[in-house]
Amino acid sequence: MGVSRKIDDFMTQGSWIRKMFEEGISLKAKYGSENVFDLSLGNPVMQPPTEFFDTLKSIAKNPLDGMHRYMPNAGLDHTRSAVAEQLSFETNIGFTKESILMTCGAGGALNVIMKTLLDPGDEVVIFAPYFVEYNFYADNHGASCCVVPPDDNFLPDMAAFKESINSKTRLVLINSPNNPTGVLYPAETLREISDIMSEREKELGTEIFLVSDEPYRKLLFDNQEYPHVFQFTKRSIVATSHSKDLALPGERIGFIAVHPDYEESDQLINGMVFSNRILGFVNAPALMQHIVASLQSVTVDVTQYQAKRDFLYNALSDIGYDVVKPDGAFYMFPKSPINDDVAFVDKLKEFKVLAVPGMGFGLAGHFRLSYCLEDWAIEGALSGLRLAFAFYSE
Ligand code: PLP
Repeated sequence: MGVSRKIDDFMTQGSWIRKMFEEGISLKAKYGSENVFDLSLGNPVMQPPTEFFDTLKSIAKNPLDGMHRYMPNAGLDHTRSAVAEQLSFETNIGFTKESILMTCGAGGALNVIMKTLLDPGDEVVIFAPYFVEYNFYADNHGASCCVVPPDDNFLPDMAAFKESINSKTRLVLINSPNNPTGVLYPAETLREISDIMSEREKELGTEIFLVSDEPYRKLLFDNQEYPHVFQFTKRSIVATSHSKDLALPGERIGFIAVHPDYEESDQLINGMVFSNRILGFVNAPALMQHIVASLQSVTVDVTQYQAKRDFLYNALSDIGYDVVKPDGAFYMFPKSPINDDVAFVDKLKEFKVLAVPGMGFGLAGHFRLSYCLEDWAIEGALSGLRLAFAFYSE
């Protein structure tokens, strides 16, 4: 066997979404793709906004000399300035391009941040339920994750959070709006998190960074305002991308923003630029950097996601599912009617509905539904969701 024992083991642990993906392919081959309702993947069916295609066409017609060459590892100056300008507008904090590093998506951004900040044996605090890759990303850099449980509304259990911070803690990683719950961390939660962090930093004599993974930041419903981590602590870093807000997950374009008032931000950014290089990303894709520079204030039509959220949330509640109403993103994380979420997801599959068990996100007893799909697929899933619920309610 050529694969290392560690990767072999990780592939088994992290295989839920892939497993559903493969089962989806075989179910679709058997029953026809119009008869299988695949709510397991966070791969938006929505097309990027027209502004994206307009910019792409105009660049293709008038290519700039040298635009496809290597560039400084932090990315193109004018793109970093455009990102900084948008962030300054949203936060009222003075960002400049010096605080911005363009990356290969949020996944690339998180790995650059972790590579730069973590020594082997360090710990990253994460909050259940969480994006499953976090454990693997931390391991990439010799670190491990310490998981904090949620309260009933999927906000952090603050007493457990306080306990989780020890002398090895280097990062606290949050994700809001959240995958898989769709829950937004309100300003009070961010305030509490940063207060607890500074209290523990003083007690332990350490420095801890608050890292916010926010690819769903602009997919926010009901006119809610997004509370930025930058408002709460100077030791804050954002990792994000245009995978969801411009529907470009295949193009691998994102960025890191460091709080401009963090005293050692120059050293931190230099470290990240170096990490971007030695991780082999080198720089974020050049063509995409040219395009997103002019799209910083553009977002996919969020009202479409909100309408899908309303439809699915109301339907699930009517059936009898216990579900927290999402504030954003395009996921829902209902309670499984039985404790064994894997068995429940298997039952759903019998009714040709694909979902992901909560244990794939570090929180058993739930399951994730993605609704970044055409309406027919969401509507079609309801019959199976109803039948599976009824099966366990008798
Ligand atoms: N973080 C979270 C919470 C995600 O859900 C995802 C993708 O689904 C990512 C990071 C990675 O996104 P990207 O495509 O920007 O690498």
